[in-house]
Amino acid sequence: MSPDTVPGSTPDAAELPTADFFDFGSLLSVQEQRKLQEVREFLAGEVAPYAKDWWDKAEFPAQLLPKLGGLRLSTPTHRGYSNLFAGLVIAEMTRVDTSIATFFMVHHDLFVESLFEFGSKEQQDRYLDDASNLRTTGAFALTEPEHGSDVAGGLQTTARRVGDQWVLNGAKRWIGNGTFCDHMLVWALDESELEAGRKVIRAFIVDGNLPGVARSRIENKIALRTVQNANITFTDVRIAESDRFAGINSFTDTNYLLRGSRLMVAWQAVGQQLAAFDVARQYALERLQFGRPLAKFQLIQQQLVDMLGNAVASMGMMARIAQLQEDAYVDAKGERHGGASMAQVALAKSYCSARMRETVAMGRSILGGNGIVTDYRMAKIFADAEAIYTYEGSFEINSLIVGRNVTGVSAIV
Ligand SMILES: Cc1cc2nc3c(=O)[nH]c(=O)nc-3n(C[C@H](O)[C@H](O)[C@H](O)COP(=O)(O)OP(=O)(O)OC[C@H]3O[C@@H](n4cnc5c(N)ncnc54)[C@H](O)[C@@H]3O)c2cc1C
Repeated sequence: MSPDTVPGSTPDAAELPTADFFDFGSLLSVQEQRKLQEVREFLAGEVAPYAKDWWDKAEFPAQLLPKLGGLRLSTPTHRGYSNLFAGLVIAEMTRVDTSIATFFMVHHDLFVESLFEFGSKEQQDRYLDDASNLRTTGAFALTEPEHGSDVAGGLQTTARRVGDQWVLNGAKRWIGNGTFCDHMLVWALDESELEAGRKVIRAFIVDGNLPGVARSRIENKIALRTVQNANITFTDVRIAESDRFAGINSFTDTNYLLRGSRLMVAWQAVGQQLAAFDVARQYALERLQFGRPLAKFQLIQQQLVDMLGNAVASMGMMARIAQLQEDAYVDAKGERHGGASMAQVALAKSYCSARMRETVAMGRSILGGNGIVTDYRMAKIFADAEAIYTYEGSFEINSLIVGRNVTGVSAIV
């Protein structure tokens, strides 16, 4: 007799196939598989038991940072790991807690990565070691109160060169880690160039505690409550020329960074679906209605299969993008070639986040009323998906980037 025919018995989810149904994890090297297992164990012990509490209280667990830094996972491709490994790490983090994954990505994939890509040797010597090991934290401050999707053309924060300093004025919104970070990468227009009719973008490493920097937390969020998003104003903030990224002069450079972090957000959409499947299947096996587990109802099984199909399709797309990324290289002149294009990355982000929204909605439905209470993990997964859908280019903007690429005409403006 199979277990599901024994009255009252349900299979143990641990013995059933995992949500990585096509075993993409097996594409990793043995060493990477071991490291990923270490990450899973860390997350199970140090994050999973507390994540709901942090989220409910909207508190960031600063005490986690030394242990998280101890994993030595900052910007894995600079440490010899594959792009697939880097993506699966973010998916696994998200699978356990979307907020911790988002903290990690903002800090490593935007702040630390920008130091690698655009920092001078002197800036790298000054900031990289502490930031890579999470002894200091970073943020990425691009979005403004009046400019989100159109920030590339609409940037209003300005910087004016005065001797060997710059004077920064303006405001930023939504800045992840912004309330507590030690440093933030701030994007501004060069005021003198603007007066000459040119829009030249500058990027600065700004100490969050400098005079003139005012930061306040965005309250009452319904997603990523553990992440501390900030409104930040800059009033005549003085920054040394030595804290400007000399290599950044246009939005193309910004886009290069965003392309990498957008990929990681698409991996978050994968992790979100793995989490939704894990939780919904477990619940369907345990919850009895009409005298039998939900898992025995055909409509519930259909939803679980649709969720799994969405997750596997998203993982397949991301695994291929990771392969494309392996071909990226920088030539002797410092120019970048190969890798996934912005349109390919945009399709990955829009497609995976659309599938994610379907998947978490089915998961929430399977949990019935309990699906809207954070005592059950699904409510948090469902709510956090909304942030993934919007940040790093909203679903619509990423779709329009692909639309422009495949038609040759832009519908964005
Ligand atoms: C939780 C969270 C964390 C974030 N973290 C950071 C961070 O660390 N650093 C940072 O710089 N930014 C951050 N952001 C900002 C994020 O990148 C923006 O929210 C995003 O770019 C969208 O901008 P917006 O919210 O102003 O929406 P808007 O640009 O005002 O868009 C509103 C709606 O209109 C749609 N829309 C806009 N233009 C078009 C168009 N041309 N055609 C069709 N539809 C359109 C959008 O898709 C969206 O649905 C974060 C945002 C969130 C929610």
